[in-house]
Amino acid sequence: MVGSFLNVCIHRWPIGQSVVAPRSRCPRCSGRIAWYDNIPVLSFVMLRGRCRNCRRRIAWRYPVVELLNGFAYAMIVTQVGIGAEAWKLAILASMMLILFFTDLEHFILPDRVTLTGIATGIAFSWFVALRPGIAGEVLQSFGSFPPPGVVSLTESILGASLFGGVLFLIGEIYYRLRCVEGLGLGDVKLVAMIAAFQGTSEALLVLLAACLLATICGSLAVLAGGKQWRDPLPLGSYLAGAALACIFVAGAILNRYWEFVLG
Ligand SMILES: [Zn+2]
Repeated sequence: MVGSFLNVCIHRWPIGQSVVAPRSRCPRCSGRIAWYDNIPVLSFVMLRGRCRNCRRRIAWRYPVVELLNGFAYAMIVTQVGIGAEAWKLAILASMMLILFFTDLEHFILPDRVTLTGIATGIAFSWFVALRPGIAGEVLQSFGSFPPPGVVSLTESILGASLFGGVLFLIGEIYYRLRCVEGLGLGDVKLVAMIAAFQGTSEALLVLLAACLLATICGSLAVLAGGKQWRDPLPLGSYLAGAALACIFVAGAILNRYWEFVLG
């Protein structure tokens, strides 16, 4: 059901409509959708993917988002149980799904998701401890050992400012040199949001994974003949996808990495 609501956000926010009113309508024929045709996943299967009124195709995105969101919630509860951390990760996962699809379809990362996300991530860092990361190092080098909540909050705020600031500068420099936007402000806010939610180590991992994936997929698309080297990439979708995957695998990857580094 949450996934169903995310679909409404993905469809309506980029075109400036409210997600509360009017009630669900077919985007093609504007026909009202009855409650029994609006049941997540099931209705799509029962209607065989077509509007009951105009018989035109319903986008695959609808059942896909509903299934992915439900699957993500189930995985989160399996991994961390029910508690503050599960709420935090569930909110992060749903926001990443919205951003993944709005960037893919409209090349937009709505501020109401990214900016709200930065604030939400910082607020959660007080209740769900982040890895000490850069904040731990900085505080220790000043000889300060505050309680874990303060370290976590510092890590979240510092991470968001650092990643946001550095990427903003890179985007600015590229724009001054080439006079074309290379890195959108939406992408900058999205990485700051990921750092606010998950801390600096995980944000760095997400950024590396997304850039690597975008480079590989972008190059393959050009080599296959479908795209030009100059065509824009939905970097936000790669970032959101990597952040979603990292909710489940980042812990294991970062632990391996530190074991490897420290021997
Ligand atoms: Zn219709």
